[in-house]
Amino acid sequence: MSVIDTITSNEAIALEEKYGAHNYHPLPVVLERGEGVYVWDVEGKRYFDFLSAYSAVNQGHCHPRIVGAMNEQAQKLTLTSRAFYNDVLGQYEKYATSYFGFDKLLPMNTGAEAVETAIKICRKWAYEKKGIPEEKAQIIVCENNFHGRTTTIISFSNDEGARKNFGPYTPGFVKVAYDDLQALEETLKENKNVAGFLVEPIQGEAGVYTPADDYMLKAKELCNKYDVLFIADEIQTGIARTGALLAVCGSCSCEGHCERQETYSRPDILILGKALSGGAYPVSAVLADNAIMNVIKPGQHGSTFGGNPVAGKVAMAALEVVKDEHLAQNARKLGELFRAEMNKYIENSGIVHLVRGRGLLNAIVINDTEDSSTAWDICMALKEHGLLAKPTHGNIIRFAPPLVMTKDKLLQCVQIITRTLKDFE
Ligand SMILES: *Cc1c(COP(=O)(O)O)cnc(C)c1O
Repeated sequence: MSVIDTITSNEAIALEEKYGAHNYHPLPVVLERGEGVYVWDVEGKRYFDFLSAYSAVNQGHCHPRIVGAMNEQAQKLTLTSRAFYNDVLGQYEKYATSYFGFDKLLPMNTGAEAVETAIKICRKWAYEKKGIPEEKAQIIVCENNFHGRTTTIISFSNDEGARKNFGPYTPGFVKVAYDDLQALEETLKENKNVAGFLVEPIQGEAGVYTPADDYMLKAKELCNKYDVLFIADEIQTGIARTGALLAVCGSCSCEGHCERQETYSRPDILILGKALSGGAYPVSAVLADNAIMNVIKPGQHGSTFGGNPVAGKVAMAALEVVKDEHLAQNARKLGELFRAEMNKYIENSGIVHLVRGRGLLNAIVINDTEDSSTAWDICMALKEHGLLAKPTHGNIIRFAPPLVMTKDKLLQCVQIITRTLKDFE
């Protein structure tokens, strides 16, 4: 038996404090086990998980089908690199491309790597297909975006904490206001060298900032008009989280890909991560049709772990679970219930200003300044009452439980949240 088996919360926190880089500021809770919508700390206390690892654990903690697929493959073959073929990758690529309705998939591991991959594909397409002069390609991004932590990606962030003293920054990005079609069209009109528009259907990290219902559809139309690739970062919003398979599916709640919906703003490049593995393993992917994906030739991009057979098996199982357990519909239904219940509370609340979101990706905005500790204090009190959530941007609290949530449990959670909030009124 190792010392890990008997560690206390305080000991675990002290170890991280001493031996780990301080690049996070976690809530002081040390988790050792998870199942479905629940996690347990090392002292045995049970919590509802209302973060779901930033929406990676949509299918619930330690889903037996996903863990089973992972265990089985891990005992057979874990990694070959792409220097050789493996017997899983092709099957996974076939499954995922038909699931999401694209010709091809490029496998990576983390979300940021998939965003980097999309940027590279977009630039290459711009030079080789659109005819943009060498080195001149621009990609439009949005104010307050979050696309990951690499040097290129933080180059177009406007979060000072994420950027400061990490320069020099990668050029080739133009920022426009989010949810502002006029700003987007003006930039497209002015700038002949735009290759792509990279956007989150809902800005998760910015505080679940939810744009107008027709924003994605109209933005996509503008991209078509100006021959610019529409690149959707669905790493957080995708895979049933917002009550549809993808947030770009709009109001469609079918369980798989469909072309018919007039609300579907089909991306030219789709970026997935997080729940693509149900939180079991780092799996990300970029999907596109042949005309775009075929600009990448052997040797021009890659990853040692990308496309490994464990990732392929895990992702297939994770996607099957989403369909078989009707997680998109559940997220839609429970999301409506959650916002309705929160709105009832907000009517008579001085501390909560509003609730917003789609499906089970929601946030409440606290009536206090961004630099106040109120949201943090509320999260600490929620923890005491058995529910884990984390503030984002100071005065916003995101509520995103696993999508295997039930109505009864959700109402229990609403009770915990409203009772806790009352203490802060
Ligand atoms: C989490 C996230 C990323 C980055 O994913 P990592 O796996 O942390 O690299 C990128 N884009 C969005 C929208 C995200 O939510």
